[in-house]
Amino acid sequence: MMYDVIVVGAGIVGLAHALAAARAGARVLVLDRDARAVGASVRNFGFVTVTGQARGAGWQRARRSASVWREVAAPAGIAIVQEGLTLVARRPEAAAVLDAFMATEMAEGCRLLDPAELARRLPALRPGTAVVALQSSADLRVESRDAIPRLAAWLETAHGVAIRRGVAVTEVVEGGVITAERSYTAPVVIACPGDEGAALFPAAFAAAGVRRCTLQMLRLAAPGDRHASPVMSDLSLVRYEGYAALPPAAALAERLAREEREALAHGIHLIAVQSADGTMVVGDSHVYGDSVEPFARAAVDDAILAQWSALFGTPPRVVERWTGSYASVAGRHSLVEAPFPGVRLVVVTSGTGASTAFGLAEEVIAGLVGEGHLRWAR
Ligand SMILES: Cc1cc2nc3c(=O)[nH]c(=O)nc-3n(C[C@H](O)[C@H](O)[C@H](O)COP(=O)(O)OP(=O)(O)OC[C@H]3O[C@@H](n4cnc5c(N)ncnc54)[C@H](O)[C@@H]3O)c2cc1C
Repeated sequence: MMYDVIVVGAGIVGLAHALAAARAGARVLVLDRDARAVGASVRNFGFVTVTGQARGAGWQRARRSASVWREVAAPAGIAIVQEGLTLVARRPEAAAVLDAFMATEMAEGCRLLDPAELARRLPALRPGTAVVALQSSADLRVESRDAIPRLAAWLETAHGVAIRRGVAVTEVVEGGVITAERSYTAPVVIACPGDEGAALFPAAFAAAGVRRCTLQMLRLAAPGDRHASPVMSDLSLVRYEGYAALPPAAALAERLAREEREALAHGIHLIAVQSADGTMVVGDSHVYGDSVEPFARAAVDDAILAQWSALFGTPPRVVERWTGSYASVAGRHSLVEAPFPGVRLVVVTSGTGASTAFGLAEEVIAGLVGEGHLRWAR
């Protein structure tokens, strides 16, 4: 079988490129070294976050990606388990950030809820917790550990994409890839190896200063009430560029530095999303280093649960704990390199792959088409 495009890596970034290439008319082969998806793409919240992404290209990419998720969800049998975002402002300084956000173009589809409206929408919230809340409609959530295998299966059946697992690529060259057993050739190669990419592209990773970010995650037993939307709070407003770059965020950051010292020390902000069975996925923390942090700390889990408690009271029992990691470069959404003609290295370096990969992949494929590498493209 001849292929036009080889994709290395079957996480969300690789699958997004497989989709964009197949939609452009290419015959696509995806190679992944693992027998099943076990990387960042199945360890995440599955939260496709539009609201709060960096203003400009980042926000546009996320909007496009959310729209592709909505297009592919039904045909691929992927459930959208939650819609929108409820961002609960607990402090007046956080409310000021939301006011400033509402004055931007990024507030499309957003509105502010007063405490009474918020209590109706999110009855589990402790009374007196919120000054105000932002309710968006642009965001969505999928159950990643189920969605990623379904997306891969649908690419195979509906788009004729060939996916080979248990195949470790040892080298990417112009016109193909080399594995332990054999080589594969194609005029275009797109390497999407996630945070393990330094093994294939050590120079590009070193030049960009790619670090590994390790996160701790928890699943809580079903609290018994429904959360229509994922929930975030004040700490997210100094973490997500779309809010953090707004002038009032400086005053919030100052207050949080005094009041949330421990959470900030572990890079914690609250995201609480709900699964179809009612259980809650809650996180997360961020530790940056040259390698993945092998040991999950109980104190960090406790600090994450303290953020939950501030909004919802005593947390339900923890039923699952895990860590995940992603490639990180401060202030940079992604690494898109062209080490050889027709070859791309694509790594999302901002921890937003579920939210932005589909949009980014379309840009990368358009670039290859523009350079004449995908001549058959429709
Ligand atoms: C805990 C956690 C929570 C997160 N929450 C969110 C969220 O809610 N929303 C959001 O938008 N983003 C979130 N992210 C970020 C998001 O998950 C990542 O940006 C995204 O999954 C990266 O996708 P990827 O395909 O690059 O990486 P991966 O999913 O890690 O996939 C890379 C694949 O490449 C394969 N591979 C690597 N090297 C080779 C090789 N040499 N040969 C063959 N195969 C190879 C690996 O086996 C792997 O399957 C989160 C991340 C984590 C860790």
